[in-house]
Amino acid sequence: MSLAERVKPHIASLEPYQPGKPIEVLERELGIPNAAKLASNENPLGPSPKAVKAIQQAAQGMHRYPDGASYQLRNALAERLEVSPAQLVFGSGSSEVLELLAKAFISPGDEVVFAWPSFSMYPIVTQGMGGTPVQVPLDADLVHDLPAMTDAVTERTRVVIVCNPNNPTGTSVGAAAFDRFVESLPDDVVLVVDEAYVEYARRADLPDALGWVARRPGTLVTRTFSKLYGLAGVRVGYGIADPELAGYLERARHPFNLNLLAGAAALAALDDIEHVEATRRANAEGGEQLTQGLEALGFRVWPTDANFLLAELGEDAYDKLLHQGVIVRPMGGFGLVGCVRISIGTAEENEKLIKAVETWRGSKA
Ligand SMILES: *Cc1c(COP(=O)(O)O)cnc(C)c1O
Repeated sequence: MSLAERVKPHIASLEPYQPGKPIEVLERELGIPNAAKLASNENPLGPSPKAVKAIQQAAQGMHRYPDGASYQLRNALAERLEVSPAQLVFGSGSSEVLELLAKAFISPGDEVVFAWPSFSMYPIVTQGMGGTPVQVPLDADLVHDLPAMTDAVTERTRVVIVCNPNNPTGTSVGAAAFDRFVESLPDDVVLVVDEAYVEYARRADLPDALGWVARRPGTLVTRTFSKLYGLAGVRVGYGIADPELAGYLERARHPFNLNLLAGAAALAALDDIEHVEATRRANAEGGEQLTQGLEALGFRVWPTDANFLLAELGEDAYDKLLHQGVIVRPMGGFGLVGCVRISIGTAEENEKLIKAVETWRGSKA
């Protein structure tokens, strides 16, 4: 029998995750130097300097296995979030926490309900366990259609995921709609609230997802050090749940899934208030800069609560920008025809993108 006949069909048919193009690849393929990568929602200011220092120090001890319980980080974060240490689960990025959840709860035939377009790891982790993704289209404003998601829940639904703010649209849902939605869910369905971008959200009526963790057993909130804290390359994410649910995810993980350097970096970054504040400020200003710049050129930009924004720049915008040394994320594959997702960069990077768009706007108008 061939391998192709042996491999699990739901693995063989997986569409692999499509990462943003790395700067080095653009330089190698097209010979374009000094590219701006605005494709993966990374922190344009770089990592927390305190985290860099912590990694340098921790490196002296990297012949030892890390503390598998992440004692220090767990306690620091629990204090910050006002939850008990037993409510936290760490992962190699919050993507791993999602994978742990799928591993613990999804069997072949089970359904996972989430909005679409949304984070492409949701179908991957679902299908990875043989589950069936149930994708509920966003509404006309590209916001989660929560009533339609309620309607999509069936006897076979094990998990429902709300990405708030949503990637790749930057849109968010408010507390009233969210609370109604949670109340509509059967108690035995696990609710995941993916808050990878929540620290950037500016809406006043942001849902209190952690409040729901306290009130509704079977609720998991996921967050990450990849975005605000600038640690995408070392991989630290976490989940917050009731102790029972957190305990199942703890059983599903590898003992040393959070490596020594990642743990040290996250602990230091958590206390780097200066870096966090500078990041938030740069993001707010950069968001304004991009929105105003692109709207002034006559393009549609969606309001954002995250560190990226969705813009309708025309069908070949991705390639045109690439050739001018600006990497964004094409959205055609998500059904958002003519749209790209732009990570908010430094003022200089944002300007480079606006200038690039300006060069072709004339020929289109
Ligand atoms: C970036 C992102 C994550 C987190 O990714 P990790 O680097 O694995 O922590 C999770 N959810 C969404 C929606 C994201 O965009």
